Amino acid sequence: MRDFSSDHAALALNTASLGHNLEGHGARWEPERVIDACAARGFGSIVFWRREVGARAVAIGERARAAGLAVAGLCRTPFLVGTDAVDRMAVLDEARASIDMAAGLGAAVLTIVVGGVHPGTKGTTESLKIVADRVAALAPYAAERNVKLALEPLNPVYAGNRSCLTTVRDAVDICIAVDASNLGVAVDVYHVWWDSGLDAQLQRAGESRILGYHLCDWLADTRDVLLDRGMMGDGVADLKEIRKSVEAAGYAGPCEVEIFSANNWWKRPPEEVLDVMVERFRTVC
Ligand code: ZN
Repeated sequence: MRDFSSDHAALALNTASLGHNLEGHGARWEPERVIDACAARGFGSIVFWRREVGARAVAIGERARAAGLAVAGLCRTPFLVGTDAVDRMAVLDEARASIDMAAGLGAAVLTIVVGGVHPGTKGTTESLKIVADRVAALAPYAAERNVKLALEPLNPVYAGNRSCLTTVRDAVDICIAVDASNLGVAVDVYHVWWDSGLDAQLQRAGESRILGYHLCDWLADTRDVLLDRGMMGDGVADLKEIRKSVEAAGYAGPCEVEIFSANNWWKRPPEEVLDVMVERFRTVC
């Protein structure tokens, strides 16, 4: 297991931690200012959201690398299934546009949040089949552009409307069914911390399919399952144990802090949030 106590080069900022994934939240810094603040603190990489990149993908990617940061990822594709994803061709077109944006940024990985239960179906089985079909259609397009696709299972509380994909097990099943070398899984502690079968599924995924590791914490008395994530160390997730499993399966990439926190961290000065992240990363992750 890697030792981060005196080296946080593996630390990545997901800009959602500063509120940048939602309109009207956070300090609303420009990407350039975020890049400089991360570089000054020794972060190794950064992950952006589509809404802040817009038409400036190439320029922002180059700016990040010039400051010494790798662009570890882009969040995210549009939902591939669910009530907003009924028209297959329209969904695939929009997803291809997000792949183009990731390629322009030079982002290593594009995250997929798959969407909720598909209209006309119940449960998750049929929806997951549609996800597999649509991911299979997108994987070659992404491969041609050197973009890896990471299926991110979300906590089961979101299964209805945000992600019918809720476990690493189901994500690995889709990876095996689609069988594309640029398709894998993103492991986010917020979504998987409760899963007692996680270690075995990470082993099953293997090194080549673990494409991301996302950090935050699950607050025991969370007030909002979407926008009340905790800073690492403030909750009940066993962060060291999860990282041990992820790394035992072969993962050696960035550890990306992704904290949606409308009433706490997004209200603090970004400088403070970034400083706390570095300190917690070195001590509790
Ligand atoms: Zn995540």
